[in-house]
Amino acid sequence: MSVRTTCAYCGVGCGIVATRTGERSVRIEGDPDHPANRGRLCSKGTHLGETVGLDGRLLHPMIGKRRAGWDRALDLVARRFRDAVAEFGPNSVAFYVSGQLLTEDYYVANKLMKGFIGAANIDTNSRLCMSSAVAGHLRAFGEDVVPASYEDVDAADLIVLIGSNTAWCHPIVYQRLRARCAAGAKLVVIDPRRTETAGEADLHLPIRPGSDVALMNGLLHWCREAGVLDAGFLRDHVSASAEFWAQTGEGSDLWSVARTCDVAAADLRAFHELFAATPRTVTLFSQGINQSVAGTDQVNAILNVHLATGRIGKPGAQPFSITGQPNAMGGREVGGLASTLAAHMGFDEPDRARVQRFWAAPTIATKPGLKAVDLFRAVGEGRIKALWIMATNPAVSMPDAGSVRAALAACPFVVVSDVIADTDTSAFAHVRLPAAAWGEKDGTVTNSDRTVSRQRAVLPLPGEAKPDWWIVKEIGRRMGWKTAFAYDHPAEIWREHARLSTYQNDGSRLFALPGHSGGGNEGYEAMAPFRWGGTPFAEGRFPTADGRARLVPVVQRALPAPLRDWPLTLNTGRYRDQWHSMTRTGLAPKLARHREEPLVEVHPADAARLGIADGGLAHVSTPQGASLYRARISDGQRPGELFVPIHWTDRTASGGRTGYLPRPHVDPISGQPGFKATPAAIEAV
Ligand code: SF4
Repeated sequence: MSVRTTCAYCGVGCGIVATRTGERSVRIEGDPDHPANRGRLCSKGTHLGETVGLDGRLLHPMIGKRRAGWDRALDLVARRFRDAVAEFGPNSVAFYVSGQLLTEDYYVANKLMKGFIGAANIDTNSRLCMSSAVAGHLRAFGEDVVPASYEDVDAADLIVLIGSNTAWCHPIVYQRLRARCAAGAKLVVIDPRRTETAGEADLHLPIRPGSDVALMNGLLHWCREAGVLDAGFLRDHVSASAEFWAQTGEGSDLWSVARTCDVAAADLRAFHELFAATPRTVTLFSQGINQSVAGTDQVNAILNVHLATGRIGKPGAQPFSITGQPNAMGGREVGGLASTLAAHMGFDEPDRARVQRFWAAPTIATKPGLKAVDLFRAVGEGRIKALWIMATNPAVSMPDAGSVRAALAACPFVVVSDVIADTDTSAFAHVRLPAAAWGEKDGTVTNSDRTVSRQRAVLPLPGEAKPDWWIVKEIGRRMGWKTAFAYDHPAEIWREHARLSTYQNDGSRLFALPGHSGGGNEGYEAMAPFRWGGTPFAEGRFPTADGRARLVPVVQRALPAPLRDWPLTLNTGRYRDQWHSMTRTGLAPKLARHREEPLVEVHPADAARLGIADGGLAHVSTPQGASLYRARISDGQRPGELFVPIHWTDRTASGGRTGYLPRPHVDPISGQPGFKATPAAIEAV
């Protein structure tokens, strides 16, 4: 039996043909017909078949250490959430969910929390991934819409990558852009590190961490001085205040920007000239932009340049936020963030009334809920009495993971629904619920360029595992809302989501989705990949009240002076062949060959000064915590800066526990934590 499905990992969203070859074995091939990958797969996708065994799986509901039946476990969870809401109010409970969930799972969880419990305390690990891009899009476009598609990469003459090691983190996009470069396009990489991606660029600008706003404001200033702005597009489609132009120009001359960014003025000028001369430019940005305490401003600095030069909504000319997770975008569509209601709607009265009426809900959240860092802070302060964590591992992945663990240990009631029996997070669970894994579940995901694809089951559900949507709807029913959560099939949820997305559509804000007019499950079963929302902004009309995009004034913040005890700057990121906390990729032995252990990368000058030997052990500390790594001396690092991977945990290694190191400092607009510039120290062991 073969199915057309979608990769479990990153936001590229590659199509896969999965063929069951035995009881628990699957052959994996790239789907030649999928628009994201056209048959290609990276190492992680290729080895997915090695991860579908049952070793380590959570196969039965567990209450404490004891196996329990579904009825008992679900009744207990429903009662504890109901009791907490009755005694302490709806804001005393929270869900922390995941970009690994399918859109249907996300939809039901969001509906239960916002429309029936009546709070907006549902946030997601996507907050850690791309919420600054969401906030930047909202400020500039009036709606969180990614205007670009992968076909724009194929059509670009200049590709600018900012804060993205695309060769490792989005390998199939990287193959696509290399193919375009082979046909003559130029590649500029802006990244403090000389990554594998930067090593192949026509131009690499190794800027000082956190100086991205200065860089993009400098580019905008240059374009203005050089007459490269698109006056017609600005006149007809964009609003900007006089202050905007004054602020953007201040300190944006070439020499000042070169000094702030700590790059050679000649290289900066080369970038400006290349950009100015190349109308078909796609700027892709990722975690190096988003995971910053100035992430939203950094996103808007990029969008400003594209809007002012009219490089948006045209083939090969777009800003492009590339998302980390397989379904971060699907979560955004259904409102799986504490800061949105549903279907990209906010918490103002017309939207609240519309969603409440559509759901026939007894209540509706009236304001945004707790974003990830604040959510776990509230848990630690005893304000959250019942917490449900779905498909994610915050005890490892949240910044200041030590405090998150302490919060979980003190929380009166923690539920974890997951595929894996023992994770760093499930150690704190009072109830564990066995969820269906990739290859066993059915639903949809949305990738970075808004292509909605089906994930399809190729294996039977093992043990007593259930799909996430089923678990959530059962809790909804047991909390008393039987009709609203009477789903028997994910297609029913999809149709409801599709109907909500067009419900009282005013013709500009929301989009028609396949299936919104009803029909049976057959259409859902056969659904081919399609692009959510069509081609936004192609007409130059933006989803603001006046149809114009906004140039948002953004100013480079003063970069922090080094701290006496932590004089270095720590950056974190991914390895090519691992994913998140390795609960799945750790099952594929071949994936471990690329990097067998966590390394701290150190510049040779720092290593010599501090007595760090290549291959020796080194202790990395920050104001938040410390961990042990093997040192790798690399002149791809800037002096004074360190890099460590995010994947290893207490359960997988005695060192490399990066989650303990970043501070819980967030962007004030998006709430996204800054993972890329933590004060740090290193010493040889
Ligand atoms: Fe999977 Fe991403 Fe690799 Fe594609 S690029 S195969 S989606 S991990």
